[in-house]
Amino acid sequence: MGDMLTLRQLFLANNAQTTSFPLLLEFERAEGVHLYDLAGKAYIDLISGIGVSSLGHGNQKIIDAIKTQVDKYMHLMVYGEYVQTPQVRFAEKLLSTLPHNMQSVYFVNSGAEAVEGALKLAKRYTGRQQIIACKNSYHGSTHGALSVMGNEDFKQAYRPLLPGVSFIRFNKTEDLQLITENTACIIIETIQGEAGIRVPDHLYMQALRKRCNETGTLLILDEIQAAMGRTGKLFAFEHYGIAPDILLLAKALGGGMPVGAFVSSNQIMDSLKENPILGHITTFGGHPVCCAAGLAALEVLLDENLIAAVAEKEALMRSLLIHPAIKQIRGKGLMLAIELDSFDINKKIIDRCIANGVITDWFLHCDNSMRIAPPLIITPDEIKKACFVIIEAISFYC
Ligand code: PLP
Repeated sequence: MGDMLTLRQLFLANNAQTTSFPLLLEFERAEGVHLYDLAGKAYIDLISGIGVSSLGHGNQKIIDAIKTQVDKYMHLMVYGEYVQTPQVRFAEKLLSTLPHNMQSVYFVNSGAEAVEGALKLAKRYTGRQQIIACKNSYHGSTHGALSVMGNEDFKQAYRPLLPGVSFIRFNKTEDLQLITENTACIIIETIQGEAGIRVPDHLYMQALRKRCNETGTLLILDEIQAAMGRTGKLFAFEHYGIAPDILLLAKALGGGMPVGAFVSSNQIMDSLKENPILGHITTFGGHPVCCAAGLAALEVLLDENLIAAVAEKEALMRSLLIHPAIKQIRGKGLMLAIELDSFDINKKIIDRCIANGVITDWFLHCDNSMRIAPPLIITPDEIKKACFVIIEAISFYC
C-alpha cells in the first residue's frame, strides 16, 4: 500500500500533468478485455485505451511478432532510407486491403503526425493553401492538427495557428458548396469520434466525394479512431461506397504499439520527393518493432474474422442498454456513445461503473455522453456483464 501511494505521489510530482483531476487508476497487468489493479481486481475495458486495444490486451501473436523483431533489430535509420522488412511487409498487407487508388503508405509515429503529413501533402500536391475542416472535429494536438480542430475552447490559447482554415458543419450537404477550386483539402472524420460519435448520412458522404471531384480538392478521411474493424468494416468509408484521396490511420493500427500512417496514391505521395526533397521527415516513423506489431495485428484481425461479429455485438449492446435516462445511443459497430442528461450525471455514472469494474469515460467535445469502444474480442457474456454494471449505475442515479 505504501509503495502504491509513493508511486502515485511520484506520478503527480514528477510526471507532467494535463488536468487537475487525472483518473489515477493504477494497473498491474492487462489480458484480453480486462485490466487488473494492484489488488488483482479485474476491470472490463470498455474504451480500449481510446480506440487502441482493438484485439484486447496481451495478444500472443502480437507479442511474438514484437519479440522476434526486437531480437533482429530495432531502430536502424530515419524513415525512408533503408529497406526494413517489417515496414515493407506491413505496407504490402495494408494496401492489399484498400481500394486501388491507395498505393503508398507513409508510416509515422502517431495520429497527429499523420494529420500533419496529410495536410502538408495536400498543399504540396494541389499547390493550394485553403483547408476545410468540420465543426466539433478532433484530429490531434499538434499545431497543424489543432488548426483543424473544430472546438475553439481547446485551441484559442495557441493562436496564431495555420491560416486559411475554414469550418463547415458535419453532415450538412449544403455546406459542401464552401469547397471550391481554391481548396487544397477537406479533412474530415468518417465518423466523428470526440464530437460524441456522430455518424454521417450515406448521401452526405457521396455528395462530399462528388464535390471534391468537381473542385480537385483532396478528400482526407481521418479514420484514426474508426478504422481497423471498429465500426464493423475494416475501414469506415466502406460503409459509404466511397474512397478517400488520403487516408489517416493510427491508434489500433499498431496493435498496441505507436504507429500511424497516411496513405494515398503514388501520384499524390510522389509530391513529397522533389522541390524540396524530403517533404516529410521522421526519425522513428515506421519503427520496425511497431510495424511488426501492426502487421501481426492486421493478420489477427483478418485471419480470425473478428470484424464479422461486430454488428452482432453492437446489436446485443443496444438491446441491453435500455433505460429511460438514456436519451440516445449513437454510433456504428463497437464505436458507440450513450447520451445522458448532463456531464454531472454522466461523470457520476462513469465513476460508479469504474468502481464496479467497468472502465468507460466521456468525450472531449461531448461530456454528456459515455464512451463505449471495447476490444472487438469482447464476448457476449462480457458484454452482458458490462451492460449490467452500466444500467445499475444509471438506475442508481436516475
Ligand atoms: N484523429 C482522431 C479522429 C482521433 O481520435 C485522434 C486521437 O484521439 C487523433 C486524430 C490524434 O491521434 P494521436 O493522439 O495519436 O495524435
